[in-house]
Amino acid sequence: MNRREFLKLLILLGGTVAVSRCDSLEKGDGPIIEVNGGEGPIFENGGGDRPMIVVGAGIAGLSAAQALHKQGSKVIVLEARSRLGGRVHTSREWTDVPLDLGASWIHGVKGNPISRLAKDNEIITVETDYDNTWVYNTDGSDLAEGEYDILEKYSTLFWRYLRKASNEFDEDVPIQTVVDTLLTKENFSEAEKQTILYLLNRFIEHEYAADINELSAFAFDEGGAFRGEDVVFPDGYDQVVNILAKGLDIRLNQFVRQVEYGQAGVTVTTEQARFEGERAIITLPLGVLRAGSVQFSPALPTQKRYAIQALRMGLLGKVYLRFPHIFWPKEPEFIGYISATKGHWSEWMNIAYYTDAPILLGFNAASFARETETWGDQQIVASAMETLRTMFGTNIPKPDSWQITRWASDPYALGAYSYLPPGTSGETLKALAAPVASRLYFAGEATSSDYQATVHGAYLSGIRAARELIAEQSVDRF
Ligand SMILES: Cc1cc2nc3c(=O)[nH]c(=O)nc-3n(C[C@H](O)[C@H](O)[C@H](O)COP(=O)(O)OP(=O)(O)OC[C@H]3O[C@@H](n4cnc5c(N)ncnc54)[C@H](O)[C@@H]3O)c2cc1C
Repeated sequence: MNRREFLKLLILLGGTVAVSRCDSLEKGDGPIIEVNGGEGPIFENGGGDRPMIVVGAGIAGLSAAQALHKQGSKVIVLEARSRLGGRVHTSREWTDVPLDLGASWIHGVKGNPISRLAKDNEIITVETDYDNTWVYNTDGSDLAEGEYDILEKYSTLFWRYLRKASNEFDEDVPIQTVVDTLLTKENFSEAEKQTILYLLNRFIEHEYAADINELSAFAFDEGGAFRGEDVVFPDGYDQVVNILAKGLDIRLNQFVRQVEYGQAGVTVTTEQARFEGERAIITLPLGVLRAGSVQFSPALPTQKRYAIQALRMGLLGKVYLRFPHIFWPKEPEFIGYISATKGHWSEWMNIAYYTDAPILLGFNAASFARETETWGDQQIVASAMETLRTMFGTNIPKPDSWQITRWASDPYALGAYSYLPPGTSGETLKALAAPVASRLYFAGEATSSDYQATVHGAYLSGIRAARELIAEQSVDRF
């Protein structure tokens, strides 16, 4: 069972829907054209047939561009970075072990279009098992056998409360409010409270990249989930990106500043050039839309601007530490830590389990991730080491090297992935996705009301936006 499915089962007591919405649009391979790694010309009008312009070469942009390309449209993809993939980013700095700094998992392999891409292209994936977690108490002692049952009992109790939240509260509240009600009603000891907060952090805050006081109790898990296991890519998620980029005309280093649209078409102005097109698919991350660094002319409709402001960008931080040797238990895939302060270094992935390399991956989410992102590397590593010493003793070696993500300060992401704060719902995501003036179409994980905040959600949103554009194009031809 995958992590989201596990969450939903607990909440809905067995009722999650897993529906594949992909279709033939994403099948087959287009001709291979080299990706343009250089800067574009000063003025580009795309030749006689005006091209479709796709803004962003993340998963959504690439899937949209592929769908248009396969349907026979001329497409230009404009990407601000000097690389492809956006929030799917594999680091190959440690030559023996590729590290995914953005997405790691395919969440739920059954019917998932990303699994199909991986399978069709013989990309190796490996199953992960969240049940294979060893949990450590605040003082570093192992959780005793019976204490795991207590963890499960607390989970069930909490999920029952959360499921009832929509009956108990007249209007949407943060999950924190539901938790407070539970903690007040039941007479928990401090240690029990800490354990509940650990569970909430690990299974909600890490999954949705937001604090429980930021997430909607009614809608935080809006949408569906694919069934089946969760898998990772031992050779890097970027293999999927490279498959999707095949055959496309992609212009890197093109920071889009302005998108003008009207009856005559679209003009997209980057810091280097101007591109004229028939229509455009915008896959800018929610964080970038919220920051207003790309100007739309005329201004986007009120409903869309409302959605941009109402939705929020969450944060998940990853800290990979490489040690001279493995000093932690090799058997668990995950290591949990019931921290004194909620969410401080509470989840670790044992990379040695999958690769034999002496690497641990620490996750932090939401406010603690935002705080640590402002620290220097040395401070982050020192803080991580404090927790590791509590669990594994003071004699453990220092790491030789590390790789640390900073997605909140990345100007082309401004966060990890979107989440639903109180008062928003799937309808808000749909408002973000709605086409504008038959010229602009919107894709990206935050536009996916079915699979928000995932790679497959981004992928399917790209297909959806391409399909909307193609439908409009066909109407124009008659
Ligand atoms: C740390 C982390 C862990 C995650 N873990 C998982 C996971 O395990 N499984 C999972 O399914 N999902 C995971 N996700 C979420 C997943 O990575 C995203 O949902 C998905 O990759 C988003 O794709 P996208 O195309 O919508 O956006 P992006 O990948 O962000 O693509 C948008 C593109 O637009 C470009 N851009 C931005 N501004 C401009 C501009 N002004 N001009 C031109 N181009 C611009 C960006 O550079 C980027 O390439 C994770 C994300 C993060 C950050």
